[in-house]
Amino acid sequence: MTRPDKHDPASLAFATQAVHSGNRIDQGTGAIRTPIVMANSYALPDDPSELGWSDTDVPIYTRNSGVNQIALQQKLAALEGGEDAVALASGVAALHAVFFTLLRSGDHVVVGDVTYEATWRLFSELLPERYGITATFVDSADPAAVRAAIRPETRLVHVETIGNPTTKVTDIAAVARIAHDAGALLSVDSTFTPPPLYRPLADGADLVAHSLTKYINGHGDAMGGAVIGRHDLIARIKADAMVDVGGVISPFNAWLIQRGSSTLPLRMRQHLSTAERLARVLDDDPRIAFVAYPGLPSHPQHEIAARQFGGRGFGAMLAFAVEGDTDAQNRFVAALRVITSAVSLGHDESLIVHIGRSGARTAAYPEPFRQYGHLRFSVGLEDPSDLEADLRAALDATFA
Ligand SMILES: *Cc1c(COP(=O)(O)O)cnc(C)c1O
Repeated sequence: MTRPDKHDPASLAFATQAVHSGNRIDQGTGAIRTPIVMANSYALPDDPSELGWSDTDVPIYTRNSGVNQIALQQKLAALEGGEDAVALASGVAALHAVFFTLLRSGDHVVVGDVTYEATWRLFSELLPERYGITATFVDSADPAAVRAAIRPETRLVHVETIGNPTTKVTDIAAVARIAHDAGALLSVDSTFTPPPLYRPLADGADLVAHSLTKYINGHGDAMGGAVIGRHDLIARIKADAMVDVGGVISPFNAWLIQRGSSTLPLRMRQHLSTAERLARVLDDDPRIAFVAYPGLPSHPQHEIAARQFGGRGFGAMLAFAVEGDTDAQNRFVAALRVITSAVSLGHDESLIVHIGRSGARTAAYPEPFRQYGHLRFSVGLEDPSDLEADLRAALDATFA
């Protein structure tokens, strides 16, 4: 057995990495936690004339690199099992950084048909219209459909492990093989499935993107995004999209996210177990029209999810609707007393948002989503009994 050493992430189990990776004793003060360094610039060497101004390894200027960015990036690379990571200002900045760096006019992308709103708009509108990059949206749960959508000019396949918002699950290993057979790269938005639940790089993904705003920070008080993968790809993203487009993360947010992520494995365990319990509670209630949750045997990709996530869980995001019209969904949300009506997800507190039936994106959603709209429910860290009682009381109030 190798001897664990907190400065060698590879020697450590996940929970130990989550506490120690990226953290250093501060040489100036002796503080045992990486301090917040709110500086735009760092001291130059005596002869700076040979420095590369786009260098991202040596701290020069906070748009290139900085103490808190480096600490967070080292930690994220360790947690996802990647060679390197780049931290940016938001999840969308991270996704855009991947697309901007890897794609050029004339390229084609295969994109999962259930995808975060900004990704959908980038590929349906902004990138085709402004830059001549084309995209085909496919049912990413069907590997044959992904293969059929590949063209000679396909450079990238982009999917979400569990899709926001319908909870469609993609078999990452299968899609990685298809992408690589075609000479394309696979990028995965794994925001709904942070480690230790799942690590897409181990299944062949080339790049993993996260909204750090969600589970990895976990406390609803900072925005951030990251891309993790091989050195050569991350170096290109840093040089092109970080230094020269500029969506850098602030040192304070990087520090908050580094701190929040220390408890990621503990928090995920609670999120996952409470979500399984509440999914069953909702699924068993006749006043609920439908529940989409990969942990339910009725979910179309239940088996893939069980295998892919190794029995560790099925995520903590549920989509459901109460029986009735738009007004019934709103009455239900208004009757909740613990669960907060707000966007975002993966926070300590449970969040719910009523998403309607309109919008072009909804066309690809399965029937119950189109019929009822849905409530996207991010199961939080409150006591599960309080959450269950809140849901039951709100159902009683809705149908009183
Ligand atoms: C929230 C989210 C994003 C965007 O992240 P921001 O930090 O809000 O920019 C991207 N992908 C998924 C799956 C998300 O849930």
